[in-house]
Parts: sequence; structure tokens; C-alpha cells
Amino acid sequence: MALNTSASQRVNPPLPEESKGLILIVDDTPHNLQILSTALTKQGYQVRGAANGSMALIGARNIMPDLILLDIKMPEMDGYAVCEKLKTTVETQEIPVIFISALDDALDKVKAFSVGGVDYITKPFQLAEILARVENQLTIGRLQKEQRKQNERLQAEIRDRIAAEAQIQSLNSELERRVIQRTERLNQEIAEREKVQQQLEYMAMHDPLTHLPNRTLFLKCLEDIIQKRQRQTGQSFALLFLDCDRFKAINDSLGHLVGDQFLVSIAQRLKSCVGEQLLARLGGDEFTILFESAADEQQAIELANAIQQSLQEPFHIGDNEFFVSASIGIVISHPDYRQPAEMLRDADTAMYRAKVLGKARYVVFNASMHEDVQSSLQLETDLRRAIERQEFTLNYQPIVALDTGVITGFEALVRWISPELGFVSPGKFIPLAEDTGLIIPLGEWVLREACRQLNEWQTDNITHLPLKMSVNLSVKQFSQPNLMAMIDQILAETSLPAHYLKLEITESAIMENSDSAAKILDQLRARHIDLSIDDFGTGYSSLSYLHRFPVNTLKVDRSFVCRLDAADDNVAIVQAIVTLAQTMGMDVVAEGIETTEQQRQLKALGCEYGQGYLFCKPVNAAAAREMLIGKNYILGSNGTD
Ligand code: C2E
Ligand code: MG
Ligand code: MG
Repeated sequence: MALNTSASQRVNPPLPEESKGLILIVDDTPHNLQILSTALTKQGYQVRGAANGSMALIGARNIMPDLILLDIKMPEMDGYAVCEKLKTTVETQEIPVIFISALDDALDKVKAFSVGGVDYITKPFQLAEILARVENQLTIGRLQKEQRKQNERLQAEIRDRIAAEAQIQSLNSELERRVIQRTERLNQEIAEREKVQQQLEYMAMHDPLTHLPNRTLFLKCLEDIIQKRQRQTGQSFALLFLDCDRFKAINDSLGHLVGDQFLVSIAQRLKSCVGEQLLARLGGDEFTILFESAADEQQAIELANAIQQSLQEPFHIGDNEFFVSASIGIVISHPDYRQPAEMLRDADTAMYRAKVLGKARYVVFNASMHEDVQSSLQLETDLRRAIERQEFTLNYQPIVALDTGVITGFEALVRWISPELGFVSPGKFIPLAEDTGLIIPLGEWVLREACRQLNEWQTDNITHLPLKMSVNLSVKQFSQPNLMAMIDQILAETSLPAHYLKLEITESAIMENSDSAAKILDQLRARHIDLSIDDFGTGYSSLSYLHRFPVNTLKVDRSFVCRLDAADDNVAIVQAIVTLAQTMGMDVVAEGIETTEQQRQLKALGCEYGQGYLFCKPVNAAAAREMLIGKNYILGSNGTD
């Protein structure tokens, strides 16, 4: 029964199925060992014995009993010491220890519990008590073991769950990270797409050169305000349509690059005038302003005036200085305007009227202008047809020497007698012909017919006078690249010597083509074709340019002549023109002389030639021929009329 401590026996033999537990009994009294062992074995326990403390310690480690019954009083090492050691050894510290003490031993219960004992039994043994206490402790031990196992299981479960949760969490955060990444990418894509979209929208609505709103955006804003104001009646607004005067000449002569820079500067200048109001570039040199807060016509006019004023300041592009004026059409809102295009059309009409009236001004639209536009469209159709049907003739108005009344030449003036419209004034159809380009074929016909006519009179030998034929040349014709070729061809066709021809051009023809003008004028001079500046004093009147060009004659405009009677500045102006002409070796023709008083004054001022109803109205070719044949070539107060 004594414990064998050899290494081969260290492994705890498996308990038989029915065993209720393995108990190590430690007692130095073999008798006690015997009694206890027998009693416990009988009860179904497996029992091992140890006769002293040292063996008990070794045995406990080797067999790992479920319970130790430990005698207190033993030689060498008492039960307390053994228990203390058991409790400080990891492998054995959980084994419950029940102390056994003799009745006569002084049992130190406190010590027994403090060194780790769980119970005690006093000798002599009461078997029932021993069994009950052993049973009790084993049950407690089993329960504790189960509890421990359960705890371990629970802890393992908790660990598993924590691990699973950690995994889920890490999956979640990975998912979250990916979602965030994806969202960021999507947001970025959306932002980029929005940016491109915005750029496209901006480009569709703005002028790339000046960055101002373009026609589309302007019309949209105009539509919005028309609709808005229709709901809130009573509040008016204005639309200003602005077109730069003679901008084409700048563009053509200086090139598009400078032209573009000029437009940008003009846009900036306008922007500073209109402030908060919507300014748009409609295209080319056309700008529009939506004056939303214009309470009445007067405010719109004030804005137009402010713009005109600001444009008077020179523009600097590179080293050059430029000037520009503008024609402005103004329309005031009216409930009848339903469509933006209608309002824009009327503003355009008013602007066009400002051009016709001499540019560099504003005109406020009124309904009668609309009718004018309609009739000018009709007139254009009629004019085209008239050219095809050759409904034109020429009248000739003599130009006379003021002191003698002798005819020195004629001015050819075109006449249109339309079968439908009757007589149409050149003042009405010439500007239209210029606008539509119809002046080119018409002007060519006039030149050919006038040259042919003078050559006919010369070949018929009806007069000895060295008559010159003056023919009006429009700005449009003057800027035609094939002008010289056309003149050469007509002179050749009609066999008229070039020095009998005199061309009348206005100042604007020279100013608007200043580069090409010098070349053309030199070519004319080389052919001995004379040149007159028509309507002198009404255009640029920039006397300084004159000396650069080979001009033969200045024709003083009728507006100065007709007011010579009235005592005002006109006398001084005419005097200045005459003096200027004389110093530059030019002659002066006064236009529109109607009274002998005018003739007298002009003569007194040193003007040599004149033309006007006083001498003769423009007459047809037959009448002019009669005049020459009948030697009635001395006209006016000095001769017969
Ligand atoms: P313009 O070249 O200055 O011609 C003179 C205009 O004054 C003519 O008007 C003539 O009839 C008018 N006139 C002459 N003497 C008097 C006068 O004593 N009193 C008044 N009240 N008027 C007088 P018309 O023929 O009606 O021509 C008007 C304008 O039309 C011309 O002004 C000219 O600019 C243009 N024009 C006429 N024929 C032609 C043409 O064949 N080609 C071009 N390009 N223009 C032409
Ligand atoms: Mg003329
Ligand atoms: Mg004239």
C-alpha cells in the first residue's frame, strides 16, 4: 500500500469506471492507513498511501489525487508543512487537503485553514464522518473542476467571440475604407464631370474673346425679364443695342489681331459704364445692354450718353492710339413685346437709324421705324429688279465758273423712275444700294454711261468747251480691289480721254481706306483723272490729311452754302475752306447755290466755281445737249438759265 515513487509509476493509472475518486492518505501510523484505506476502498474509492511528508509530496505530484487525507502529526515534516508545500507547488495546489488529527493532539484549526486545508477529521475515525467529509470535498472539488472547465469554455467562447468580432470589425473597417475610397473616387469623378459640364455651359453662353455673355445668354436673360415683368406689371426696362462705327475699317487695315484687342478694350470700357447691368457681345462689333433698372426712357438715354462720352477717350493698343464712336439703338420695354427677338430687332432698327443719321449717336425706337424697315426691305427688292430691268437714267447738272457763268463741266446724277414707285430720290436708294452692295453694279453703269455721254458730245463736236464729267463714287466702290481695272476698262470702252473724268468721293471714303486710298489716288493721278472731295465740311473735316493726297477740288457742302445768307459762322467756315484750298493748289466748287446773294458772297470769298439751282437743276442728257448746242453755256446771274 505504501507509495512507490519510481519514475515508471509516476503516470496516474486510469481510474476504474466505477471509481468515485483517487485519494492519497498520508499517515505515519500504518494502522491508520490501513483503516482508512479499507474503508474508502470499500466505498468505491481508489486509495494510495504515503507514510511521511516527503513521500506525500512526491506522490501527490505523480498521481495527482483527487483528495489528500493528511495526518498533522508526523515526524520530520508535519502535515501543516506538507500542506504548505503542496499549496505552493503549481501542479498540486488545487488538490483539496483534509487534515487528520488525533483527539488528543492540539488541533490548530486556524493554522490548518491558513496553510490551505479545506477540512479536518479527528481521530479516532468516525467512518461515516470521514466518508461524508471526503464525499463532500470531492463533490466540491468536482463542482469546482466543472466550474473551472465551464469557465474555461466560457472564456474560450468569449475569446472566440472577441476574435470573431475583431475580425468582423476589421472586415468592416476594410469595407468602410473601400467604400470611402470608392466614394471619394466617385465624388472626384462627379466633380470633374461637373467642372467639364460647367465649362461647356460657360462656353455655350459666353463670347470667347471678351468673356462677356453671348447672344444666346443675352436672349435667355431677355426672355426671363420679359416674362417676369409681364407678371409684375408697371416696371419698365430698356435694351441698348450698340454698334461700333467704322470698326470694319480698323479691322481691315490693322489686321484681326489688333481688331480683337481693340474689341476687348471696348468691352472693358463698356463694362465700366454699365456697372451691374447685363452687357453682352452679340458678335462682331455689336454689343447689347439689358438695363433692368431703367425706370424710363430718360435713364436709358443717360446711359447711352455716358457710353458715348467714355468712348471719346482714346484707346491704346501697343504703341498706337485709336478712337471709336458707336451708334446706339434704345428700346424701352412694352407689354406688347412677347419675344426677346422682337425687342432685339427693334433695338437693332433704332441703332441702324442712328447710323443713317450720321453715326456716333443714339436713337430711341418708335413704331414708325418698324414700318420703315419693312419698306426698306421692299425697296431693296425693287432696287434689285430695277438694276436687272435697267430702270436708271442719268441727269447732268452743270458746274459753272462763278465769275463768268460759263459751264466747266457736269456732275452726273443717277435717277430712278420706277414703273411702280415713280421717282425715287437718290437720297433714299443710294444708301440702300451701298448697304446691300448693289452700288457696285449700279455705280459701274453710272460711270460707263457718264463717260459714254461726254465722249458722244465731244465726238459730235457740239461744244468747244473743255468739259469735265464729275461722277460720284461711293465708299463701297472706292474700296473695291478691282476699281482701277474697272475705270481703265470703261475709259477704253467709251474712248474718253482720262483727263476729262473727275471722280467725287467723300472724306469717309479716304479715311476708312486710308492705306489703300493713297495708292488708288496716286494711280488716278498717274492717269490724269481728277479727284473731288464731295460734301466737304460734313465728314471728318480733318484738314491735316488733305495734303497727303492728290486732291484737285473741294466741294463745299450745300449746308454751308444755303446758310450763307444768315449772318453766322458759315461765312468764316467757307472762307477757311477756300483759303485752305488755295494754299494747297486746289479749286473750290460750292454746291447748292440757289440765290444770287449766295453767288455774290461766294465770289467775294474767293470761290471760283459753283453748282446749284440758281444756274441749272440736274437735267437729262437731251436737255444738257441742247444747252451746249444753243450756246446757253453761260448760266446764272451772268447768263441765261
Ligand atoms: P451730291 O453728290 O452732293 O450731289 C448733289 C446733290 O445736290 C444732288 O442731289 C443735286 O440734285 C442736289 N443739288 C444741286 N444743286 C442744288 C440746289 O441748288 N439746291 C438743292 N436743294 N439741291 C441741289 P441728288 O441728285 O438728289 O443726289 C443726292 C446724292 O446722291 C448726291 O449728292 C450723291 O451723294 C448721291 N448720288 C447721286 N447720284 C449718284 C451716283 O450716280 N453715284 C453715287 N455713288 N452717288 C450718287
Ligand atoms: Mg457729288
Ligand atoms: Mg455733294
